[in-house]
Amino acid sequence: MRGAYSMLLDGSTLTSIAEALNESWNTTVGGAWTVTSVRSMLKNPRYCAQRWHLGEYRGPGAWPPTVNETTWKAACDILAMPGRKPAGDNALRWLGSGFYLCGRCMTDVAMKATYRGIASRGTQARIYKCPKCLITRVAEPIDDYVSLVTVERLQCPDLPCLVAKPAADLRPLQVEAEELRERRKAIPRMFAIGTLTEAEVAEARQIIDDRLAEIATQFAGSAGKPALAEVLAAGDPGQTWLDLGNVRRQRAVARELMTVRLLPVGPGRRLFRPSTVEIT
Ligand SMILES: [Zn+2]
Repeated sequence: MRGAYSMLLDGSTLTSIAEALNESWNTTVGGAWTVTSVRSMLKNPRYCAQRWHLGEYRGPGAWPPTVNETTWKAACDILAMPGRKPAGDNALRWLGSGFYLCGRCMTDVAMKATYRGIASRGTQARIYKCPKCLITRVAEPIDDYVSLVTVERLQCPDLPCLVAKPAADLRPLQVEAEELRERRKAIPRMFAIGTLTEAEVAEARQIIDDRLAEIATQFAGSAGKPALAEVLAAGDPGQTWLDLGNVRRQRAVARELMTVRLLPVGPGRRLFRPSTVEIT
């Protein structure tokens, strides 16, 4: 990771940093590094051992920094430069592609993004189409409406409670898990020197495995909404979401927040009615 910071400071592109990282290791969730994940990794104040919560500085972290603060700040400055915004990312204009569900099909079927009309005649419109029952909905007003709801929901003060615990809070669990694994390794030795019977060995292993499984569940729960957690870490989550300026990232946040179903509206030109979009 230090290499990634120095590559950026030396003028490398995020694409080449992602390639370099992929040669050695994958992201914490096991996926390949992308321009987006490299960007958010480099911008993360955790790596200069700072604790931030909802855009507020909460003091130094109790873990060793990966890079010093100067390096981290320099990286953030570079990433904030307009020329650094990933090119072409805005080409994907459909907020709901693969995210909105068909409101007519009984099973969950994701709507596909497509066009109808003819571009040269100026009648072309972006639409969502169910690949199964083929209902279609005009995309623009739906995307506007879902954006509006997303921003409003992000402003609700209860939201941080619904998502990730900060990494620092998970540290005690991490320590406990490490200790448990060490103790599990010591069990055969205790059997060998006669401290434990065979039945006790089995029981001890069971107790440790149960607790490790519990800890794993807590970790999974806290890591369940990474995109949302990132937006919520900002001072104004609604504005931050709008400022993401990248539909793919906006969608990642929105789908961690809500389920959207597009109900059929029948033929004919009609004004958009919010009641035809079911948001849970
Ligand atoms: Zn359908």
